[in-house]
Formats: sequence, C-alpha cells, structure tokens
Amino acid sequence: MLNFDHNATHPLSAVARQAWLDAVERFPGNPSSPHRWGGRASAALEEARETVAGWLGCSPAEIVWTSGATEANNALLHHLGEATGGGILVSSLEHPSVRMACRRWLHGRTEAIPALRDGRVDLDWVRARLARDGVGAVVVMAANNETGVLQPVEELQELCAARGVPLAVDAAQWIGKLPARRLAGIGMLSACAHKFGGPQGVGFLRGPESFQALLVGGPQEEGRRAGTENVAGILSLVAALAERERTLGSAGDEGAAGGAGRQAWRDRFIVDLKEAVPGVHVLGETVPRLWNTVAVLLPAPADCRRRWVAKLDRLGVAASTGSACASGKEQPSAVLAAMGYQPGESDRMVRFSAGWETPEAEWTALLDVVRRAAVALLGER
Ligand code: PLP
Repeated sequence: MLNFDHNATHPLSAVARQAWLDAVERFPGNPSSPHRWGGRASAALEEARETVAGWLGCSPAEIVWTSGATEANNALLHHLGEATGGGILVSSLEHPSVRMACRRWLHGRTEAIPALRDGRVDLDWVRARLARDGVGAVVVMAANNETGVLQPVEELQELCAARGVPLAVDAAQWIGKLPARRLAGIGMLSACAHKFGGPQGVGFLRGPESFQALLVGGPQEEGRRAGTENVAGILSLVAALAERERTLGSAGDEGAAGGAGRQAWRDRFIVDLKEAVPGVHVLGETVPRLWNTVAVLLPAPADCRRRWVAKLDRLGVAASTGSACASGKEQPSAVLAAMGYQPGESDRMVRFSAGWETPEAEWTALLDVVRRAAVALLGER
C-alpha cells in the first residue's frame, strides 16, 4: 500500500519506537509517587518538558502534557472561555476539535474569521476587527490539515501583540513538519505526536502558567491537567520530534523543504498530475503550503456514485478526502465551504499527504496509480 495519508497519522518512527520501549523498561513508576521510581519518572518528564520548551523558546512551566491535540485544543478554548471576556475570533478553517470545542466552551462568544479562496484566513478582516474594541482572543490554526495551507500566524501574532490580545494556535500539522521555533512568539498552542512519527494518544499544549484546567482531579502538571502522565508516550514524542527538529534545523532557516528537497518531489507530482489528468485543480496552489501535502479537486467521475478515494484504495493508495460524493453519509468539507467551494466541488477533493520516510519513487508510483484510476473513472479522454 502506498501511504499518502500521513496528515491523518504518521507511522511510528524507529527512534520513537525505541524510546518508548526504553521508557517502559527504565521508568516503571508513577511520576507522582513519593518513592525513587516516582522521582525518576518525574525527572524524565521534567527533562522532556525542558526539551520541548527549548524548541518553542518558552518556559518549561508553560508546557502541559495532554492526550493529543483534541484535548489540548479543548483545554485551550476552555481556558479562554474562563480567563477572557469579549468576543473570540475563530478562523472558519479550523479542525473539528476546535470548532466543536468553541461551541462547548465559548457559549456563543465566537465570531468567525472569514477565509479567502486561497485557503488562508482574511488577515485584513482580522486587522479591521481588532481595531475595534471588544476582542478577547484570536484562534487560528498554523497549517491546515486538509489543504496544507500555512496560515499567516506570524503576522497574526504581531497584530494580536500590538493590541494585547491573546492568540491561540492549533499547531498539530505544523509541529514536526516545520521548525517549532517559528512559533516561538505564540503563547498558546497545541500539538500531537502522531503527526510526526511519535505515538498516538499523546501531545502537549503551551499555555500561560495561570492556565485554567479542563481536567480536574489529582495535582499533576501543577494543577493544570489532572491524570497520570503517559511517561513512555511523552518520551517517545520527544525522541520523534528531536529527529524532525534536527532535520529541519539542518535545512536552513526555512526548513520548508523538509531537509531533503521533499517539497520538490511534491511539486513535480503536481506538474505531472496536471498533465496526466486535465482539469485537476490544486487547492491553495498560489500560497505557501506544508511540503508534504497536496489537495486537489479531481474531475467528476462519469458515474457520480463512484469515488476517487475508493478507487485509489482498490489500486493500493491510501489517500484522504474532505467529504463524500452522493452517499450523503458525510458532510461536505467545512474547510472547502469556508474557501467558497460548492459541495459538488468539495465532493471531488482528494488529499495526498506524504511522510518523512516517503521516497521520491513513491510520488512517481502514486502518479501512475492516479493515471490508472482516471482511466477507470473517467474513461479514455
Ligand atoms: N488539529 C489538527 C489540525 C489535526 O489535523 C488533528 C488531527 O487530525 C487534530 C487537531 C487532532 O489531533 P489528535 O488526533 O491528537 O486529537
């Protein structure tokens, strides 16, 4: 199977697997226990916290371990609901873990930031809205999971800082693909390990020391998140991220090419795909995107009950879609709707997302499969 669904989950990397195995051997204790096993586990967690804080350029006291980005997003929005007044500006491109958490924790206080056709939030709208008073916080993701489009978070950070308004960023698709240090100015963010080769079910947030806990119970995480920490998962997360940060660091300041020209392989695929399947439309093509992702609208199959992802799956490619065709079982992609695409268009969206270990040859093999799928679905044209 050719794996082009890494934005859903990245396979566990070799170093992360080894770190997890080492951790369960070396740290059998509960980090909150008063004996030396507990002390050792707790010390390992604190060292891991310092390492992550070092990448993000913040104090270790701002890092809280979580079960992943969904929990981190819920915790951040819950905190904003408790700790701020006024309207909360939330981009209309957010992952469901932000969209649904807003409904639950912000009780009608949100104002939707419109998106542009290119997949970015409307920065001018945010600028104008911030110029009027009454904004309690701004919430915008760093990189979109469906299109890979990078949001202008650095500019947003400047705008928010100038007004003294907190900015919260879902960085689940950024961390581990682009350098963490580029998010250093952002005081609230979320991330998870399984998007860059760490294990599923573990992540972290950066938040203020005065963070209002979502999960209450024991005194773990200085009272900011109750529940025994996932020690092996956290150490495995840090091992996976250390490898990515090393590669990104050696790729120069931008790190955008993922250290080995991976973006060029994706771009070559796009050029070849457009030639092989006329009518392909690339989402966010004119703006900076994650180096591993390409989301396309493919031509409508002759029989609209047939779906590209299902055909690709049968031909040995794991890809993803933002929505469904005529089955009616899935909702059209909210992200594409925010970008101004109609349901009939977003039904034809397919997202290909490579991983750190995807070789160039797999992009070539993918092209071949898409070509075969096109012949089957569209006929010889
Ligand atoms: N935010 C974004 C942008 C994501 O892509 C995902 C994963 O799909 C999440 C949040 C949720 O992360 P997790 O699976 O760790 O809960």
